[in-house]
Amino acid sequence: MDDNRIVTGFVVGLGYTKPYLSPFEEFQRYKMHPEVRKFLEGGRRLSYGARAIAAVGLMSLPKLVFPGGALVGNEAGFSTLRASRVLTAQSKRARWERRRPSMRFKRDASATNWIRILKHAQSNHEMLKPASECRKIDYPKPDGKLTFDRLSSVFLSYTNHDDNQPAHLTLKDPAVPTNVNLRHYAGSESRYCPAGVYEFVETGDGHERLVINAQNCVHCKTCDIKLPTQNIVWVPPEGGGGPNCTDM
Ligand code: SF4
Repeated sequence: MDDNRIVTGFVVGLGYTKPYLSPFEEFQRYKMHPEVRKFLEGGRRLSYGARAIAAVGLMSLPKLVFPGGALVGNEAGFSTLRASRVLTAQSKRARWERRRPSMRFKRDASATNWIRILKHAQSNHEMLKPASECRKIDYPKPDGKLTFDRLSSVFLSYTNHDDNQPAHLTLKDPAVPTNVNLRHYAGSESRYCPAGVYEFVETGDGHERLVINAQNCVHCKTCDIKLPTQNIVWVPPEGGGGPNCTDM
């Protein structure tokens, strides 16, 4: 990376409640703030990417240790935590669980138990309010200089999936997007996906249907986390396809 490159990042907590909110559009709006735009004006957009991160503490982390191995680094969600402490605590807990039958009354009350106790009251997919209780958000149109549309941004993520591979995004129930997501949440997946993968299109008979542009997916995993109905099945695509953004 040369000295004149600026990486602009923006984080939206996925516990948000408004179905009309678009994290991508919020990011565009953020770049218009005078204290941000002064660094970006006159520049050129080079690349784009998006990802979900574990950002609110220990209870957001998955199980990281397993016999003979451990998940570490960014993939494990250590963006805001000290990895060694978490791994030590989780491996102590795993050890304790293996020995539990003979240790039922000798619980180690220190590092092994607090991970069990800490828990979010609600998952992010349970947080959205019905669209009928919320106001629409009118985002400004992109100016093509500081702010951009999603599809031209995705082009700069250098995302590639083999054309003939099985879809890595499928629906558990194909009726749910229109019967539930569109009807009650104004099709929130068409806004929270930072790559425009989910599109509701008119069918010509007064109805709409969901089109999934899986080839655009930048693998952020937001749909897995935020969709109220949890109706999307996301699996790693064949052949290592996906985004190839080198600046993230
Ligand atoms: S389809 Fe899901 S994982 Fe892919 S970019 Fe959109 S929200 Fe992210």
